[in-house]
Amino acid sequence: MIELLTRSDLVRDANLIGGRWLPSASGRTFAVANPANGDTLARIPDSHAADARAATDAAHAAFPAWRARLPRERAEILRCWHALIVANTEDLARLMSSEQGKPLAEARGEVAYGAGYVAWFADEAAHVHGDILPPQQRGKRMTAVKEPVGIVAAITPWNFPLAMIARKIAPALAAGCVVVAKPAEDTPLTALALALLAQEAGVPDGVLNVIAASRESGIEAVADWLEDSRVRKITFTGSTAVGKLLARDSARTLKKLSLELGGNAPFIVFEDADLSAAVDGVIAAKFRNGGQTCVCPNRVYVHASVYDRFASMLAERVGALKVAAAADPSAQIGPMINARAVEKIARHVDHAVERGAKVLTGGRRLSELGDNFYAPTVLVDASSDMLFCNEETFGPVAPLFSFDDEAEVIRTANDTPYGLAAYFYTQDMRRIERVSAALEAGVIGVNEGAVSSEAAPFGGIKESGYGREGSRYGLDDYLAIKYVCQGGLA
Ligand code: NAP
Repeated sequence: MIELLTRSDLVRDANLIGGRWLPSASGRTFAVANPANGDTLARIPDSHAADARAATDAAHAAFPAWRARLPRERAEILRCWHALIVANTEDLARLMSSEQGKPLAEARGEVAYGAGYVAWFADEAAHVHGDILPPQQRGKRMTAVKEPVGIVAAITPWNFPLAMIARKIAPALAAGCVVVAKPAEDTPLTALALALLAQEAGVPDGVLNVIAASRESGIEAVADWLEDSRVRKITFTGSTAVGKLLARDSARTLKKLSLELGGNAPFIVFEDADLSAAVDGVIAAKFRNGGQTCVCPNRVYVHASVYDRFASMLAERVGALKVAAAADPSAQIGPMINARAVEKIARHVDHAVERGAKVLTGGRRLSELGDNFYAPTVLVDASSDMLFCNEETFGPVAPLFSFDDEAEVIRTANDTPYGLAAYFYTQDMRRIERVSAALEAGVIGVNEGAVSSEAAPFGGIKESGYGREGSRYGLDDYLAIKYVCQGGLA
C-alpha cells in the first residue's frame, strides 16, 4: 500500500531536528515492518541519547522566538498544518495502515480525529486568559498570567500513530511550548510524515523535533530528556508500567507530567438496556482497532436476565467481522501489532478457557492469514479469577460476566487499579445519575460506545494516569501560572 502514496516523500527516512532531516548520530538504522506480512516498509534512524540531546538543543534555541509569537500567529500555523493533514488524508491513512495494520477506513477516521485536535487547539491558542486578582491592599496590583511551560517531551504509543502525537503537539505549540517527540518503535512513519507537514505549514525550525528509535535506543533517548533540566514537561501515552518509570525518573528534575496510561474498562449492560444498541456499543468500543485501544472494554458485565440473549446477539455480530490485512478494502479487523500482542491475547483466552469460560465465537489464532492475526472472540461464563480482570488484554476479545444487582456490579467494575473509561447501558434516568457518579473512571460512556472527541477532556484516574487531553482543559497541561504582584501604585 505504501507504494500507492501520491506523495512518496511523506515516507521519511530521517529525524527532524532543528528543521533539518538528519540520520542518527551513530548512523544506525532500524526496520519498520508491516504487521500483516512482516515486509519492511522503510529503514529509519535508530536514535540514542546524542540525537535526543541534539533535539533538545534545537528546541531550546527555538523557544524564545516561538513563545514571543502572537497567539493568533501560532494559531494560523496550526490551521495551515490542519489543512495539510486533511489534504493528505489518503496518503497518511495508507501509511498508517501499512505500519500499524488498522483497516484503511479506520485509518482515515483517525486522520480526521487527529486533525480535529489540531484545529481545536488552533482555536484555543487565542483563548489563553489570565486574571486580574481582587486587590487586598491599596497600591498593589496582583495578576495571574499563563505562560508556556517550555520544552515538552512527547512519547507516544503505536495504537493511534497519528492521533496520539497530534493531540500532544497541537496543544503544546498552541500554548507557545516547543516539542521533542519520540513515537513508538513499531509506528514511527506516520509521526515523521506529520512532522514534514508541520514543517510545510510553517512551524519554525526547532519548534518541533521528532526522532525515531528502536526500543532499547529509545529508552536511552528518553532517559536523556528525563535527566535534562531544560525539558520542563513529559507528556506520555502508553502503558501504566512505563508511565510509572517516567514519573519516578523525571522526579530528579521535577518535571510537569501528563500520563495517559492503560485501562481495564468495564462495560455494563443492565436488564433494561436496549440490547441491540448495547451490542453496537460493544462493537464500537471493543472491536475498533482490533481491540487495541486504551478505552476498550476488557470486561463486559451483563445482567443475568438478559445474558443469554445478549451473548448470542453479540456472538453473531462478532463472528461476522471480516478479518484481513488493511490492504483488503473489506477488512474490519486487521492484524495485531506484533507477535507479543498475539501471545498475550492467546494467553488470556487460554487461561479463561482452562477456568471454565466457553468460546461462543473465535478463540483462536488465524495463522492462515499470518502470524499476527487473532479471531474476534466472545467468551461466556467469565469469572473474576481470569486474567482479563487484572490486565489489559489489548485484543479483539469480549469476555462476558453475569451479574444480578447494581451495587454488586459497580463494586466489581471498580475493583481494578485502573480508571480510564467505563460504559453502561440502561434506559433508567435515575440509574444513569447513580451509576455515572459511582463508576471510578475519567471517561464514562452512557448508552454510547464511541466517546473520544477533541472537544472532550480525555484522561484517567487511579493508575490510568493524570492530565487531560482535548477540550479547553487540554491546554492547561502546557501552561504554568505566574503570579505578578506590583507594588507602589498608590
Ligand atoms: P508502552 O510500551 O508503554 O510504550 C509507549 C511509548 O513509550 C513508546 O514510544 C515506547 O517505545 C516508549 N517506552 C517503552 N518503554 C520505555 C521506557 N522504559 N522508557 C521510556 N520510554 C519507553 O505502550 P504501548 O505498548 O506502545 O501502548 C499500549 C499502551 O498504551 C496500553 O497500555 C494502552 O492502554 C496505552 N494507551 C493509553 C492511552 C490513553 O490515552 N490513556 C491511549 C493509547 C494507549 P517503544 O515503542 O520503542 O517500546
